[in-house]
Formats: sequence, C-alpha cells, structure tokens
Amino acid sequence: MKLQIRNVSKEYRIGRDRRFTALREVSLDFQGGELISILGESGSGKSTLMNLLGGLDRDYQGEIRLNGQDIHKYSEKELDHYRRNRIGFIFQSFNLIPHLSVLDNVTIAMTLSGASQEEREERAREILEEVGLGDQLRKKPSQLSGGQKQRVAIARALINDPDIILADEPTGSLDTETSAQILEILRKIPAMGKLVIMVTHSQQVAALSSRIIRISDGRIVEDRKVTEPLGTSELVQGGSGKKNKTLSFLAATRLALKNMAEKPGRNILVSLGASIGITSVILMLSIGSGVKEYMTSTMNQYVNPLVVEVNMKAEEGGGSEPANPGSLMMAEKKPFEEADLEKLAAIPKVSLLEKAWSSTSFTDFKITAGEEEYPFQNLASLSANITSENVAAGSLPGEGEILVAASLFPEDPESHLGEEITLTWRLEGKEKTGTYRISGLFGEISSTGMENFHYVYMNYQDLEDLAGSSLAANTIYLSAASEEDVPGIKEAVADLGYEGSMEEKLLAMFTEMLDVMTYILTAIAAISLVVSAIMILVVLYISVVERTREIGVLKAIGARRKDIRSIFLGESFLIGLSSGLVGVISAVLLGQLINSFTQRLYDTDLVLFTLSAILFGLGVSITISILAGISPAARAARLDPVESLRRE
Ligand code: ADP
Ligand code: MG
Repeated sequence: MKLQIRNVSKEYRIGRDRRFTALREVSLDFQGGELISILGESGSGKSTLMNLLGGLDRDYQGEIRLNGQDIHKYSEKELDHYRRNRIGFIFQSFNLIPHLSVLDNVTIAMTLSGASQEEREERAREILEEVGLGDQLRKKPSQLSGGQKQRVAIARALINDPDIILADEPTGSLDTETSAQILEILRKIPAMGKLVIMVTHSQQVAALSSRIIRISDGRIVEDRKVTEPLGTSELVQGGSGKKNKTLSFLAATRLALKNMAEKPGRNILVSLGASIGITSVILMLSIGSGVKEYMTSTMNQYVNPLVVEVNMKAEEGGGSEPANPGSLMMAEKKPFEEADLEKLAAIPKVSLLEKAWSSTSFTDFKITAGEEEYPFQNLASLSANITSENVAAGSLPGEGEILVAASLFPEDPESHLGEEITLTWRLEGKEKTGTYRISGLFGEISSTGMENFHYVYMNYQDLEDLAGSSLAANTIYLSAASEEDVPGIKEAVADLGYEGSMEEKLLAMFTEMLDVMTYILTAIAAISLVVSAIMILVVLYISVVERTREIGVLKAIGARRKDIRSIFLGESFLIGLSSGLVGVISAVLLGQLINSFTQRLYDTDLVLFTLSAILFGLGVSITISILAGISPAARAARLDPVESLRRE
C-alpha cells in the first residue's frame, strides 16, 4: 500500500477576496507499516493536511494518490467509499456520539457500510476486547474516562479494516500515563500493515514512531526516519471488495430513535401538538360516516326503500328549499292533477303509481285514549310506502283501524295495541271524530328519533269517511322493482319539478349542516396540520444545529449525504408515526365521549370509526412529517464535515 502526496497546496478564503495559504507545495511518500508523527507549531497546517488525506476536504491543488489512484479525481461517491473503507479517523476530542452506547459507537461505522447486525456486533466486540474495553460495551461515552473514550474512537477507526489511520492529536487531551497506553495501542496498528499518521505535540510520543515529519507555516521542514517501518506494506491490499450498501431505512430509523430517546420531553410535546390536526381529520371523517349511516338507517326504518314519495312543489318561497322545517311542515300540500299523474306514470322503471293523501298540522290532530289526549302532527293514508316491516308491533291497519307512531305514547306504547281510541280532526273549523282500533305501532318502540313529530296512518276510504268528502291525492307513491332503480326515479321526479318526501328534505338540510360542520373541521384540521408541519420543521432544524458535530463525525467515518438525510428523515418519520398514533388514540377517546352523549340523546352512535379513516389519519401524519423533514434533512446532508468538526 502506497500513499503519495504531490505538490499539495491549500488556500483558505477569508472574507470576500482575501486568501490564506495553509499548505504550500507539500510532497510526501508513505507506505503501509509506517507510524508517522507530524510535529509543528499550532496553526502550521497539520490538521489541514489530515483533512485532505482523509478526503474531508476536496478544495486543494495537487494530487493525493492511494496505490496510484488520485483521490482528488474521485467522484463524491468514490470519496465517500474511500472515507468509509480506506480511512479511520481519530480525533483529539474523541468525537463519540453521545446518545449511542460504546458498542453502537463502534458498529455505526460498519452500519454505514451495510454489514449485517451479527457481523457488526461480533467484530465490534472483538476490537473493543483488543483495546481493553470488552466489559464496557453498554456504557454511554459520558460514563467513560478520557483514555477509555479514545480507545472507543480507536476501535471505531479500525472497525472497517482501513488502510490508513489518521489521528489528529490523539493524546492531546490525555494525561501522560493514559497517553502512553493509547500510544501502545496505536503502535500495534502498523504491524498489521496499515499506515498510521499521527499529529502530536509531544517529543516523547514522536520518539516512539518510525518517522517524524516537521511542518512549519505550511511547509515540510524536516522528514526524518527513526526506525524501519513497524510492519510490511504487502499485508494490506486495500479493502476494494467491501460491501457498499446505503444505510437501510430500518437502520436509519433505529439511529433516529436512539437520538430521540435522549430528548423524550421535547418529542412527546411535538407529537402531542402535531396530533391535534390528525385527531380532527379522523373525527371529521368518522362523524361524516356516522351521521350518514344514522340518517339512512332512520329513513329506512320509517319508509319502504323501494318506494319514492312525490309531492307537488310548495308554492310559497318560489318553490326553493324552505328555510326551516317549521314552515315546511305547516304548508298544506297541493293536490295533484290528472296531467301530473300521467307524467309521473311515464317515468321509466316505475312499477306502481299509488295515490295517497296526507295532512300536516301542529294543532288539528289528536287521539283520545281513555282520559289521556295525544296530539299528533301528520294524518296520512296507508300506502305502499309503509310495509309490515315498518310495523314494530301489531299489524297493518284494516278497515276501522289505525297505525300509530310508537313514539306518540311516551310510556309503554305496546300497552295501547288493540285499544279503541277516538281520533279528532279539526277540518275547516269543524271537529270531525271517529272511533278506531290501534292495530299496530309504527317506527321503533324505543326510538326517540323524531320524537316531536308523530304520524297516524289509516285506509284511504276510512280517511274520506272521516273527512265527509272525497280527498284529492296530494302525495304520490311510485314503487320500483329493485332498489337500484330508486335513485333514477328520484332524479326523474326532481327533473319534472316535483318534490320528494319531507324526510328527504330534512335529510338534505342535515347534509347541508353536516357539510358546514365538515368545512369548519377541515379548516381546523388544515390549520393545525400546517402548524404541526412548521413545528416539526423547527424541531428538526434545532436537531440539525445541535448535532452538527455529530454529522461531521458521521461524514468523517464515511456517511454519505444520503445516509445523513435518511437519519433525519427517519426522525421525522418517527415523529409523524407517534403523532399519528397519539392522534388516533385521542380521536377514538373523543369519539367515544361524543357517542356517549348521542347515545343518551338520540340512541345512536354519531361517530363511526372506519379503518380507512384511521389509516388515512396515520398516512397524513407521516406524510406531513416527512415533507417537513425534507428541508432540515437536506441541510444536514449538505453540512461541510470540516466546518462541522471544528464546531464546539
Ligand atoms: P494546526 O497545525 O494547528 O492543526 P490547522 O491546519 O488547523 O493548524 O490550520 C492551519 C492554518 O489555517 C491556521 O492558521 C488556521 O488559522 C488556518 N485555517 C484553518 N481552517 C481555516 C478556515 N476554515 N478558514 C480560514 N483559515 C483557516
Ligand atoms: Mg490542529
């Protein structure tokens, strides 16, 4: 293994147009097995030279050739590979990653080269054993002494079996005794055929190396051989066949998780904040489906789904949607004429056209049963609209019988079955009365759904007898053979200018209210999602700033831009996942609370959770979080390793 430096010069830009020359025309030849000490005053250019040799800085003149290949001509990818597999860095300030254990600090360099977990751990244990740390694997760097930290750093530098070890003042922060121990370890490395280049201030340290190079003001002023090389160059032929996979998503997420675990408070708060938007998204979707479900089931419970109710358009208000249900109920229905009936009968797929009559009033109808009076609001003829399926108890009425909404009787409606009652109808100022038997109850026995609006049904003939005159049909029921035909018939009815049932109008109104509610919830959701995206963005930017040095270290040990990006995107993925989970949990809890209220009031669940709503919420959370992470992750990936490492 040969490392040749040819005419290398390095200038730093200072300000806009001033330059400072840190290295001038440096030429050196190294080979495997040597232990080099570089000596020189502070500021003489030692670290600069190390950074160039380590592939951390590409901005220089000249050539650096490893086994004849000029690394200056390497692509970024090749240079990453070079740093990862050919170079091991050791720093004066150790530069261990604080939130990783001793073992993880060593394996991370191998993680970057895509080795398998067992392979990594086995090799890391072996090397840590060699540097005398076999029993400290689970400790965090903060729990180690300086000498121990530097041993971890040496193990990390060796893990990928590099050709060259670059140590920038490795004993600079250590006392004499510890320095001697570290030096002892470093002296064993050239025996494996590797090249060790070490910057030092200490004459004693330098005396133990095989060659001393003195640098002053960016120039080599002395190059002295002390002993023969400590190993043979031929032992190492370069790690060319090494795996070169990118950091896997799983590994990146694992690293991100370890970092996030260091700041649990902050990450929990962010997840809580970001979950508000997710909660409202899920609730919004679930309330929508719950209300729709409730309304259709209510409609089907009261009417035959195969039958379409048709009414003449109310005259007042120009035939548009009435403003409130009160005016809708009070308006007396207009009767149909022959021409209307012909038009309706001509609608395709209509299997039966039935005339019916009904009247709505809040003052004109009541039933007297024994001593009790029960006012009701809608008197109607029986038609195909009501089938025995709509009868909750008893049967459909025959002659002299009526079908009564179960909700008319507040207590024990079934006790009224078969009862003889008097029905009073105030018609054009005169009271008409008749005696009927209650043959059946309509609607749900326990339902309190439409509790203030009660129906009574009887046969058309009985109705005319009670009125004492013939009644012109003011409602038409169109029957379809199958439910699939119903929407088409409804559409045709609307196109002809007729109206549907009152329930349908109520449904339309509810839907409108629901839409307004959905808009409000959507706005809340959108605003809070934007807020959480910004929050995540800020937190990740802070994380990048806090971890600048760590990013520098990762780059020095061979992390690609892609790897750095993956780690930060892994972090935003985790934030998204956790805020999504918090959002789902709080949506379910809130939904249950809402349902316990609506159960009491309407005997139904208003919030209906669907798997798709929950998955959608989770998906939105993760997507937003990852989108928010893109820019901080890119910033982290772009950081200059040399700058990052200099940061205190
Ligand atoms: P040392 O031998 O102490 O390790 P360095 O290689 O770190 O010295 O620095 C050599 C010279 O280059 C010093 O004078 C230093 O101030 C200068 N220098 C180092 N990095 C930069 C930089 N990023 N911008 C400008 N000057 C720099
Ligand atoms: Mg230095």
